[in-house]
Amino acid sequence: MQNEKTFVIIKPDGVQRTLIGEIIRRYERMGLKMVALKMLVPTAEMAERHYTLDPEWLRKVGEKSIASYKAKNIPAPSDDPITLGKKVLTRLVKFVTSGPVVAMVWQGAHAVGIVRKMTGGTEPLSSDIGTIRGDFVLDSYQIADVSDRAIRNLVHASGSVAEAENEIKLWFKPEEILNYRLIQDAILYDVNLDGILE
Ligand code: GDP
Ligand code: MG
Repeated sequence: MQNEKTFVIIKPDGVQRTLIGEIIRRYERMGLKMVALKMLVPTAEMAERHYTLDPEWLRKVGEKSIASYKAKNIPAPSDDPITLGKKVLTRLVKFVTSGPVVAMVWQGAHAVGIVRKMTGGTEPLSSDIGTIRGDFVLDSYQIADVSDRAIRNLVHASGSVAEAENEIKLWFKPEEILNYRLIQDAILYDVNLDGILE
């Protein structure tokens, strides 16, 4: 379990807001281990592949979007989840390809769940304070929709272990993922804490 891996992208807004160090610091001090890192400008093809790795994603995002319009008493631009999902995807591809991003793999016990918790809910307006999206950005679906752009929420983080596996395979070659021991792994995971006292 301590080898669970998750995939994170600091999106172009995170890089432009000069939050690379802050975001990495948060995951790092939690006890997670960075095992891969690269900076790149994603191509449209990569961005689209990333978001459509799960064939259900378009429908799920469309449904989520319809539900969030309903909750706010705003008429959805379409009742068809796929149509809405495609709209979200087009905006996301434009956003994610607009500048450099930082792609990372983080490893540790419950890495997927812990990183999601620290990253916060998708819409910064309602992300909890204390999370990355809740602390550093003030965007909402409403403002993003008016300008026909993707919501700027700083970070992508895998939503499940299966999603993480597929995303890591898409963004990194196997040899780019490093297998190494940190000294702190002992205090996080070892059964016996012998060797602390002299
Ligand atoms: P995440 O895992 O929290 O990033 O959220 P999802 O995987 O559901 O969605 C991926 C990305 O699609 C989000 O980061 C948003 O940029 C966008 N997105 C998701 N749901 C909605 C929505 O309801 N409306 C809009 N405008 N964008 C959305
Ligand atoms: Mg997601």
